[in-house]
Amino acid sequence: MADTLIRQADVIVTMDDDRRELQRADILIRDGAIAAVGHGLQASGAEEILAQGCAVTPGLVNTHHHLYQTLTRAVPGGQDALLFGWLKTLYPIWARFGPEEMFVSAQVGLAELALSGCTLTSDHLYLYPNGSRLEDTIHAAAEIGLRFHPTRGAMSIGESLGGLPPDSLVETEPAILNDMIRVVDAFHDARPGAMVRVGLAPCSPFSVSRDLMRDAALLARDKGVMLHTHLAENDEDIAYSLARFGVRPGQYAEDLGWTGADVWHAHCVKLDGQEIDLFARTGTGVAHCPCSNCRLGSGIAPVRAMRDAGVKVGLGVDGSASNDAGNLMAEARQTMLLQRVSLGADAMGAREALEIATRGGAQVLGRDDCGQIAVGKRADLAIWDLSGIEAAGHWDAVAALIFCGPMRVRDLLVEGRRVVASGQVATIDLPRVIERQTALAGKLRK
Ligand SMILES: [Zn+2]
Repeated sequence: MADTLIRQADVIVTMDDDRRELQRADILIRDGAIAAVGHGLQASGAEEILAQGCAVTPGLVNTHHHLYQTLTRAVPGGQDALLFGWLKTLYPIWARFGPEEMFVSAQVGLAELALSGCTLTSDHLYLYPNGSRLEDTIHAAAEIGLRFHPTRGAMSIGESLGGLPPDSLVETEPAILNDMIRVVDAFHDARPGAMVRVGLAPCSPFSVSRDLMRDAALLARDKGVMLHTHLAENDEDIAYSLARFGVRPGQYAEDLGWTGADVWHAHCVKLDGQEIDLFARTGTGVAHCPCSNCRLGSGIAPVRAMRDAGVKVGLGVDGSASNDAGNLMAEARQTMLLQRVSLGADAMGAREALEIATRGGAQVLGRDDCGQIAVGKRADLAIWDLSGIEAAGHWDAVAALIFCGPMRVRDLLVEGRRVVASGQVATIDLPRVIERQTALAGKLRK
């Protein structure tokens, strides 16, 4: 592959160790990695991308999603329900999904993320009806060209055992563990620069047994992969944990091996001070999903306290049935705004929100090769055109990205390859994908 030279960016927001911001600067990309960052770079024969009028940031990192849910956006029965009621409305619809629904909905979700500047996303797929498999989504990510961390989720406690999901959507625990081993062996790539890394992710403490939580943790350590689940999402969640397990979620997680640098939990809206200390001490990460938390009325996650304590925090759009948008830049903005709602206007600035969206997410996912623009890091980059209406008249290009947004990315590079070019997804036929998605949603409504 020829070198690529991004030239004359108005500003490059490196998110490197010194958080440098370089004016009118260039980036040289070679073999999928960043080869140089600076002024007046030259490279004969390189493909040039002119970035005048633009800010360049590291690609945004999405740490929590359920891609399949793009097929159940704005479902009437789930629009105004709290978390548990919302789940009960949607489970019967999801039970009718199959491999095609998984693939197409993932394409839509991934394309939406790409257009919002995201280069690396995780996904949490915890139901496998009608022959669906994790690779349905892995194939979708490979086609569009995003870096992908799918997690093999699971539910094993159905209604008849006192759980929330219908029995038709749960699997037996031996079958779950076998498939976890299968997908890790088939798809996980531990090497630096990996395009696919697989994690293990029982859906939540209220949809699998203690045994499966513990076994998944043991298996993840054995295979050297990461662990992910939902934790402490709202008050109902805490009450359930206390009633069923006699402990708060943090204690439950710790008891079962679910803390450590190889673990990240989604939401954590209701972590208390002790749990925040536990996460900081153990290097446990958090996927903060502000729009989903607002949408479901879950509350405001204590992100300021987490960050001050040294907890790794990244952002997640969460599933499109509880957001219902998949715009990661909007999450960065919402993160800043929500902390201000609870703590005042100086609680969080635009640069910190952008840092959480990029470098922070990469840390949560254990990717020290991503999330910053520095020599040797992967060439995952978002180029933002600041000459449009949203930011016209701005005084600070970096702050404008968050304050004036959300905006769509102009160009997006993953591993040095263009996924979005001039505001359009370059790797798949998006209008055709949307057509298929619309047809599938129509079928599900019947
Ligand atoms: Zn979720």
